[in-house]
Amino acid sequence: MALATTAAVLQTTLSAAMPAPVVAAVRKMATAALRAGGWVERWSVTSSSAPSVVYVVARRADGTMGCSCKGWIYHASRPQCRHIRAVLDERGGA
Ligand SMILES: [Zn+2]
Repeated sequence: MALATTAAVLQTTLSAAMPAPVVAAVRKMATAALRAGGWVERWSVTSSSAPSVVYVVARRADGTMGCSCKGWIYHASRPQCRHIRAVLDERGGA
């Protein structure tokens, strides 16, 4: 149940094709939803296969990571997808 809720919260996937005001509004909503869901940090990761698609990677206070990509949502037992790993790599490991 917790994982399903997490996936729903993170399902806000941004597209670069959206008009800027829409993107801003979606970002604001996503940020509010993430705060409400206990997420404390959030990153946007551009898809390597579709440059117009941006996935949202987020971290909970306890260090749990989540992602809005299908790979993470449908295989939630996997602790990290490539987007989460990309964020962790950028942060210098951990
Ligand atoms: Zn992902």
